[in-house]
Parts: sequence; C-alpha cells; structure tokens
Amino acid sequence: MSLELRCGDVVTGCGGVVSGATQDEVLVAAAAHAADVHGLTNIDDATKRQLIAAIHPVRADDRALRAR
Ligand SMILES: [Zn+2]
Repeated sequence: MSLELRCGDVVTGCGGVVSGATQDEVLVAAAAHAADVHGLTNIDDATKRQLIAAIHPVRADDRALRAR
C-alpha cells in the first residue's frame, strides 16, 4: 500500500500529487514539490501538520481513475 498527498487538499487549485511508501517519503516529496512549484522552501510546523493530515492511502482503482 502506498500513500499519497494531493497538493490541492492543502493548496487550493494545485493539481499536484506526490506519493511514497511511507509518510516520511510523502513529506519529502511534498517538500520538493512545494519548493519546485510553489517556491516554498521552508515548511513550518502548521503546514506540516496540514500535509500529514492530508496524506491518505492510494487504492489501485484511484490510480486507474486518474490515468484517464
Ligand atoms: Zn502544489
């Protein structure tokens, strides 16, 4: 089971999705995405809590839906 974070759950209007095998991996990917796409190089504790709250498991059928 992998985990994913939809950036749009935290940043309104962003279509970015990051994923990883563990919460830490997702957070690392999210930090990279935030720096690349949003120019956000420092994620504070409040934002990190929002990110963690938004992380959820990926189901196979979710992937199939997004691939369309
Ligand atoms: Zn984003």
